[in-house]
Amino acid sequence: MKKYNIAVLPGDGIGPEVMNEAKKVLGIVAKHAGVQFEMEEGLVGGAACDRYGIPLPAAVLEMAAAADAVLLGAVGGPKWESLDYSLRPERALLGLRSGLGLYANLRPVVVFEELIDASPLKPEVIRGIDLLIVRELLGDIYFGQPRGVRVENGQRIGINTMVYAEADIRRIMKSAFELARGRQKKLLSVDKANVLEATELWRDVATETGRDYPDVELQHMYVDNCAMQLIRNPGQFDVIVTSNMFGDILSDEASMLTGSLGMQPSASQGEKTALYEPSHGSAPDIAGKGIANPLAAILSMAMMLRHSFGMSEEANAVENAVRLVLKEGFRTVDIRQEGAAIVGARAMGDLVAEKV
Ligand code: NAD
Repeated sequence: MKKYNIAVLPGDGIGPEVMNEAKKVLGIVAKHAGVQFEMEEGLVGGAACDRYGIPLPAAVLEMAAAADAVLLGAVGGPKWESLDYSLRPERALLGLRSGLGLYANLRPVVVFEELIDASPLKPEVIRGIDLLIVRELLGDIYFGQPRGVRVENGQRIGINTMVYAEADIRRIMKSAFELARGRQKKLLSVDKANVLEATELWRDVATETGRDYPDVELQHMYVDNCAMQLIRNPGQFDVIVTSNMFGDILSDEASMLTGSLGMQPSASQGEKTALYEPSHGSAPDIAGKGIANPLAAILSMAMMLRHSFGMSEEANAVENAVRLVLKEGFRTVDIRQEGAAIVGARAMGDLVAEKV
């Protein structure tokens, strides 16, 4: 029997609650597909701070690096907000990203017909939206040197530096072209090449990489225009690839097309082990109440099946199960609608598991 090792890092707040439901559905997938998922759990975030005094113990990072894939819940919460910045639960995310070399963040934006009214945008603008944002995760102004605030001529000067080496651009471009190849073969590279030289290089390397993918149509767009087009006509996009900071902003903007944080999965890929997590945080305001929406965690698990284990059929089955449950009118509180049956996290997990 084929066996996969999964590092499971539930984290804090609603992290463990939504992770339980993802594991439940994964158990059903294992039965149907005749594979074995060996799951090893580790403490990260606030849970690790409480036990070990640090948000990402070395042993947990080692376990994650040795696994075939990592499933993460969410980290953080008011309990740990007074800790020094270097010890805050959220540092675990940065530690995992850099420790696992996760340079590509994938955020699918899919508008489910059943939830079309949950979006602040008009139904005719967002109907049928199915796009993928690929954000570079390890470079750009977040990491560039020099950085900091210093005093010059009696006043404070703040400096951050946008830096990209061509090798870093090329590897994210390759990921994006490969992903576009498996979809509608349309790739949009987003930059600000009219004013930023670093992104002029970004555009050049995108074009150069595109020569190896003649079957994929490559287009370029300035980030300000893209921000506008995402609201005006998001249906024009298939795969969007962009730098760390632009991706940070555009992916949050795009997430509002779907209207609910509880529905949005994500994946982060590198050379080896990939990490899958819902886009939402630990939601301390509803933690422990059993009412969290587990669908983002379940859909993240489906991404793991597709991207890390090549189990596309099973991933489709999970996504279709989610669609069916929504079609039958079941909702968690965050996506409640008139006339719908409101269920908690556990019941939602049971319903999806039943339909897989
Ligand atoms: P959040 O995503 O946790 O919550 C924002 C709002 O959305 C809250 O009202 C919450 O109840 C709701 N919500 C989020 N996920 C939901 C779900 N699955 N079902 C139902 N409702 C849901 O963001 P926040 O409140 O800004 O942050 C809370 C904590 O999470 C902070 O400590 C923050 O640093 C951390 N955080 C962690 C991650 C991560 O682990 N990747 C991401 C973002 C924020």
